Amino acid sequence: MSWGLAKIAFLLAAPLAMVGGPAMAGACPGNPNAIGTSRTIVVNPREHIRIGTMDYAETLPLVDREVVLTFDDGPIPPYTNRVLDILAAECVKATYFIVGDMAKEYPAMVRRIYDAGHTVGTHSMSHPYRFRALSVERGNAQIDDGIAAIAAALGDADKVAPFFRFPGFGHTPAAHEHAAARGLMVWGADVPADDWLKLGPREVARRAVQRLEYKGKGILLLHDIHQRTVEALPFILEELRDRGFRIVHVVPSSADRQPTVTAPLEWRPGGGRRIVVASATADLTLRHGPDGQQEYPYRP
Ligand SMILES: [Zn+2]
Repeated sequence: MSWGLAKIAFLLAAPLAMVGGPAMAGACPGNPNAIGTSRTIVVNPREHIRIGTMDYAETLPLVDREVVLTFDDGPIPPYTNRVLDILAAECVKATYFIVGDMAKEYPAMVRRIYDAGHTVGTHSMSHPYRFRALSVERGNAQIDDGIAAIAAALGDADKVAPFFRFPGFGHTPAAHEHAAARGLMVWGADVPADDWLKLGPREVARRAVQRLEYKGKGILLLHDIHQRTVEALPFILEELRDRGFRIVHVVPSSADRQPTVTAPLEWRPGGGRRIVVASATADLTLRHGPDGQQEYPYRP
């Protein structure tokens, strides 16, 4: 089946499965073609302590063609601001995993992220790439200090979502235990875009879209600290919109916000293994390249 037919089939089937519905025409001021945010799901972090099939068996209960955008490692100028501008123009809400040291350096940018309505989670204090090599005490301090730094930047601990992502996904059993004791929901991801590698923005966009096509839905891992991510993002969003994907925003439950997701989340047999996407979508093309190229063939 061609992608066009697949999209038509999806559009016919979608109303039965949707909870919220796609962004209505005109719902995004000044941008009638925006992909928008189709719905918000509220999760109780204490009920779902580890999500993301790259590392864990459980993930968010997304329906087919739903994507959650996540941005790690910032904030840093000018890239974080440019990503925020793009998301605002598309009326897209994302989840950020912020590094404590970066929040200390650029607290106003953390506030801008929060004030724009995005979810602000944390990503350790100093982003040690060898997190697993840390002592239990130092590992726990990385988690705790990161949360404290971001709470300080926002001026209110309640504004920090109890969502945590390990730097480099370098978790340990002891750190998982500490996170659970703190009531943190540990986020892995379902789909990487490899935007930390020395790739061009078109290749980052191609990998993101191709892998989402392969998995059908998921939590997309991006980093708002790279020029290539800034340049790839418009093409990712445009391509996802044209393919009938929808963006879902995730927020934590609280005293005045009941969870909309009730246990259990989706369990995938065999989940928790790093899955390298193979050539199953060999006919995938990106129609909108940053350089105006019409076709970008997939080459395994
Ligand atoms: Zn990171």
